[in-house]
Order: sequence, then structure tokens, then C-alpha cells
Amino acid sequence: MPAFRSAPALFAFVLAVLLAALPAGMPPAAAAVTEAAAASRYGYERTVKITFPVAGPTSWTDTYHADRGGGSRVHQATDIMAGKLQRIHAARGGYVCYAPTTQPSYGWMLSVCGNDGLRYSYLHLNNDRPGTDDGRGGIGRAYAPGIRQGIPVARGQLIGYVGDSGNAESTAPHLHFEIHDPALNDPRIDRPRYDPQRINPYWSLHAATSRDDFPGRAYPKPKPVPRVSEGATGTAVALSRRRAAPARTVVVVPTRGPRPALLAGPLAAVSDGIVLPVPRSGLDAAARDEISRIGAVNAYLIGTPTNLGKTVRDGLRSAGVRNIARITAGSYAALSAGIAREMESYPGYSVRRVYLGSNWVDMQAVSALAAHRAAPILFVYPRSVPPSVDSVLGDLRPDAVVAVGPSITDATARAAASAAGVEPGRLGREGPYVTSVVATRRAVRAGLSARRLYVASARSWSEAMAAGPVAARNGAPLLLIDGRKPSGGRRAREWITANGYRYDRAVIVGSARSITDEVQARVARRLAGP
Ligand SMILES: [Zn+2]
Repeated sequence: MPAFRSAPALFAFVLAVLLAALPAGMPPAAAAVTEAAAASRYGYERTVKITFPVAGPTSWTDTYHADRGGGSRVHQATDIMAGKLQRIHAARGGYVCYAPTTQPSYGWMLSVCGNDGLRYSYLHLNNDRPGTDDGRGGIGRAYAPGIRQGIPVARGQLIGYVGDSGNAESTAPHLHFEIHDPALNDPRIDRPRYDPQRINPYWSLHAATSRDDFPGRAYPKPKPVPRVSEGATGTAVALSRRRAAPARTVVVVPTRGPRPALLAGPLAAVSDGIVLPVPRSGLDAAARDEISRIGAVNAYLIGTPTNLGKTVRDGLRSAGVRNIARITAGSYAALSAGIAREMESYPGYSVRRVYLGSNWVDMQAVSALAAHRAAPILFVYPRSVPPSVDSVLGDLRPDAVVAVGPSITDATARAAASAAGVEPGRLGREGPYVTSVVATRRAVRAGLSARRLYVASARSWSEAMAAGPVAARNGAPLLLIDGRKPSGGRRAREWITANGYRYDRAVIVGSARSITDEVQARVARRLAGP
């Protein structure tokens, strides 16, 4: 992968400074190792004994000799491709000999001076807040807790998180992993800006995987997986309380059906809001307190005055809301079109992508993804596109029109997409739980990679419908599982088995009737890692 594309000269300078700063005296054992290495003509291709430094799925090839900087340098490292915030563990014990406390221009990095006399450098550590590419993650999302210059670290110890800082911003997140040997003098010194003291990490990484020498055999025990289940409004309030940030807007939906709540998620994302399902009888004290706490001053009522009437408005006003707008329509399709138009009216925002749904369970599976991408959901029929949706697609002309789930025919997806002048996309063809796995995978790829996972079940929509927007606001994905099957459903189980290690904690949204205690316990076990 191309790294250091934009600032090769600066980076070379920094490395030169680092090399100059190396401790002069090496422990005797290390001296023996490096002496042996120097004796080998191809010392830079030798294998050293390390623990593989990234937990979880990775891909990597031998890019040590690859050209960088337009051929002015060779790469002299291995790029270990991985997801943002995957854990980085010390390949070798030693002490942290370089750990800047502000983000350098080449991104966050750590160096560990190993007890084998070699120096191991870890570059492009994470610099983003979860679920974003905002470059505002700060040191706490680059280094593991307690990691700072000068402290000892053990082999396999968690030291940081994979990211894309520095000039990896333009590439996929990866760990640029270097091994420096001060005693090495690679003979290919005629290359300009060539560092003669670097070992090709590829063979050592290869050997580590052959030995099954991976980190994470002894992860700290994950926190217990809490369950949130307090009815439609109560669950939304409880989930909202879990986040600290204020919100300007409350998007109020009736508790009578899942569709308005699903449509509300992306609108909440654009309007800096939360989704709150409210019964006809109005807001209870807990809901009013939560609206006051987050400081919301705007409210949307999504639905008719019959479902959301005067008592609801009065409750909002008493909680401090000053501006109330209503969006209502004669059908869910027209309602979805109206919400998309309202989103488009936000300054600085325009609809780039829409999701087409006809089955609300499928749509629930993409609710966090849609909210994260601020992509409106439009309701269509399986075999036709309602006029209101056709017209909004023609007016907004999004770049991507994605049909969700198996129920929408290809002809319908094509018709909707052609109204926008694009080719249709498709997400999920095998039912809601598979759609959810696909959506969660895409959500992680789209940046929803916080170390918290939300888990809900379509068997309890009145509670689960608040989870999507809340998950998206927290930078976390939402996985929909079949909570009454002992395994949670085969595809969801497979996903959690393969990806659970990414998450420090999970939140189960829904009662034990919709997600059994057994499934909850299984999720907790999976978070313990492979
Ligand atoms: Zn690299």
C-alpha cells in the first residue's frame, strides 16, 4: 500500500533524528544477536522472533522493496492492513523509546526499543474519533491507556490502535511496521535516502503466524454486557442517557409502528438529534428530563396530530423545546419522501445516498448505517415505486440508490435508480438477519468501528428502533440478531465470532423475551476475543 506519499522528505528527516536518538549501549545478549545478523550478507532479510503485532483479521504482503516517494526511497517496512481501532500489541518487550504527545505531521507513532536490541516502530496509529475520519481522536485513541515514552512494555502488551494518521489518510487504515537493527549495515546503501539499518519485517511476521504467535490470548476480561429494556420510550431515554454530548433536536415518533422511527434516524443524524418514540398520552417525566438534559430546543413531530397531539407538544415545551415542526403525509412512502426533502433543506448537507426499503425489518438492519451516512430511507413497494418517491429521487438526484433486502425486485430498484439517473445498488438478499450482517460489515468499513457494539432483535422493534440512531451517534454499529435462537442466528453468530474481539463492550437492546439470556451470555463470551 502506498504510504508516506505526501511527506517523504519530512519523514526521512524524522527517522534520521530518531536514529540519532537511539541509546548507545546495547545489552550484551542483544549485541550477540545483532552481530550474528551483521555477519549475514542478507541480514536485512533475516527472521526475528516476534509476536504478531495486530489482533484480528489482517492482510499483508512483502512490500519491503516497494518504491515510495516516486521511487526516491524503498518502503523498508510491512504494511499490515487492518480495520481502524484494531489493537496493536508489542511485537517484542522492551521500553517505549518514542511516543510523541502531540500528533506529528507524519501521524501518531510509537517505537519500542526491544530487549533484543532491535527497535520496533508502529506508524499511522489511529487519529480519529470512533466512526469518523475527523482527525480529532487525540492521543487516547492512538495509544493504549498508560502508554507513554519511557515505560517498560511486555511482549504482546496492548500498546495502541490501528488507524490512518499521517499520510495514510489517503489509503486504507494499516499499521506500518518497521524493525530497526542498529548493528545492521545493509549493503544496498547506494539508494538515496536508504536506511541501511532496517530489517524486512515480512519474514518475522510470517514466522509468527506459522507459530500461531498472536496477541490476545490473555485479553482483559470484557465488561459485562448490559441489557437495556424499558419499553419504547424508556429504552430510547436510557440509550440517550448513555451518551454525554448535547443534542439540539428531538425527532418525536409515535410508538404505534416501526416505520416512522426508522425514517427518523437519518433525520436525527442531520439535525443533531435523538429519536424519541412517544405514546399518544404524551411524554413521561423521564423523557422530559432527558430532553432538558441534552438541551434540545428543536423538535420534529413525525406523524399526525391524532398520534402526536397537544399533550405531546405541551410536554416538549415544558422540557425546553422552543421550535416544533411537523412532518406528516398520507402514506409511509410520501412520509419518507417528505423527510428526505427536509434533510436536503439543511444548509451544507445534500442527499448523496438513499436506501430503498419495503420491509421494515430489513430497514431496521440498516438503521445505524443509514444514520451514520445521513442517508434517507425511502419506502417503495416490492414491485413499484410510489410517485412521491419517484419525484423526490428525480429532484434530489442522489449518487447512490441502494435497495435493501430481498423483497424489492430488481426491476423496482432499477426504476427508482433511473429516476435519480444512476445504477441501483443492493444490500442484502437473504432476509433481515443476513442483511444486518452485511450492513454491519459495511458500517465497520464506513467507519462505524467504536469499541462498543449494539445488539438488537427484530422481535422487539418497539425497543430496538431507538438503537440504530443511538449506535450511529456513538460511532458504533448495530447488529440485528434473532434473539430467540440459541446461537442468535447462524450468520450473526459467525460475524460475532469473527469480529467480537474488536469490541470492549456491547449493549443488548431488548427484553429477555426478544433476546434470551443465553444469547446475551454468548455475545459476552465472544467479546473476550479469539
Ligand atoms: Zn508503509
